[in-house]
Amino acid sequence: MTNTKPNHRGRRAKVIATLGPSSHDPETIADLYEAGADVFRLNFSHGSHADHAASIAAIRNLEKETGRPITILMDLQGPKLRVGKFKDGKVVLKPGTKFRLDLDSAPGDETRVQLPHPEIFAALKPGSTLLIDDGHLRLSVKDCGKDFAETEIVIPGTISDRKGVNVPDVALPIPAMTDKDKADLEFGLSQGVDWVALSFVQRPEDVAEVREAVAGRAGILSKLEKPAALDQLDAIVALSDSVMVARGDLGVEMPLEQVPVLQKRIIRTCRAQGKPVVVATQMLDSMIKSPVPTRAEASDVATAVYDGADAVMLSAETAAGMFPVRAVATMHRIICQVESDEHYLKLMDAGRLETEHSSPAAITAAARQIAHTLNAAAIVTFTSSGSTTLRAAQERPDVPILCITPSLEAGRRMGLVWGVHALVGDFIHKVDDIGEVAVKGAAQCGIGRDGQTLVITAGMPFGKVGSTNMVRVVWIGGETSEN
Ligand code: PEP
Repeated sequence: MTNTKPNHRGRRAKVIATLGPSSHDPETIADLYEAGADVFRLNFSHGSHADHAASIAAIRNLEKETGRPITILMDLQGPKLRVGKFKDGKVVLKPGTKFRLDLDSAPGDETRVQLPHPEIFAALKPGSTLLIDDGHLRLSVKDCGKDFAETEIVIPGTISDRKGVNVPDVALPIPAMTDKDKADLEFGLSQGVDWVALSFVQRPEDVAEVREAVAGRAGILSKLEKPAALDQLDAIVALSDSVMVARGDLGVEMPLEQVPVLQKRIIRTCRAQGKPVVVATQMLDSMIKSPVPTRAEASDVATAVYDGADAVMLSAETAAGMFPVRAVATMHRIICQVESDEHYLKLMDAGRLETEHSSPAAITAAARQIAHTLNAAAIVTFTSSGSTTLRAAQERPDVPILCITPSLEAGRRMGLVWGVHALVGDFIHKVDDIGEVAVKGAAQCGIGRDGQTLVITAGMPFGKVGSTNMVRVVWIGGETSEN
């Protein structure tokens, strides 16, 4: 793909739109893109491979039409735990009554139901908590063995067939991927997805296992939704390429009042490590049914942007809601408004940490400072893996970041990253060309005017990951000067 234009939407934080029955037809995908969706999320908890293949084909067609790299995120279901079925489809569980979970596949009633996960029984202890149906019901374990748990109902309610189960206070000895996830992953990678989201990450080893299976074919995004993951946050972020604050399950597994605090902690950790971070779930939830969000929802999106999130995500709003395109347009407008606040860039600057003792970090921090001092039109990063560009984004500069890359895969992955516009093409043949290529690239993206500067960072030799070691200043329409 040569001569592509970047995602030049006039904002830094990115928008992720989940596709589903309300939005997976090619016309709506194009409308979502037009309204501001930078990344399309395919949720493998729903839909067949044929459905997802059709969405991917529509997105890649749109990419050809627009000439811009577009990002696809596949979200693996992960080890979602569920109860079995009931004789009458559902029962009402009363407070203080006893309820048994076991491995018997016979239909359940008011006294028991199947829980077809021996690994849960192996990990439970008396006093452990089981949450059912997104935490609507709470059961306390009184006694347990290798194939059963006797519980008492703490928070009552109706339990029905195949409802989800969360076990918040136990690290479950289950693998990172189920057989379904493994099949979905191979399918998604064969279709050329750009990011793979891993659900219910519990430990660093889960990320390592998926990294081995992905083998560099996509970026790995760890969804943080389990308390166990937060105990090893630094190590999990270090092993991941990106992270999601998955507030839906996080708010079930943890007390609700901890979610905003954790959101900020996860964003801080990711920014310190230069890993893109996504804030997800219920951001504009009321727009599933209403053409306008609540004021509180608008404020929630704004808070994530002020916190410095790389991307904010829409789930059911775009997948199954009545106003998918309006939801994206609304999110776009909220982000633009926050970013036009003069305090926003001050907050981004204040959130930067002391520069690490490495040449790539020092070069990139210097590029940010030079761009600021010279009121540059952009920081232009030359990259083959994306790592030089990610470093620039970590600095949260007050100018756009242009990513010039020969790699379509790297350009597409940048759709998730704060402030980055990717331009994909085989532009560079000798190092001496970079000034001219940067000026042409910026012009192609409508960035800068004569007399303004561009600050270039790159790693020499080209193609060596993590070798950012060069900064150079060029004048648009004029002389070049080397540092
Ligand atoms: C979440 O729990 O917030 C989340 C994003 O995961 P999913 O929607 O896949 O359950």
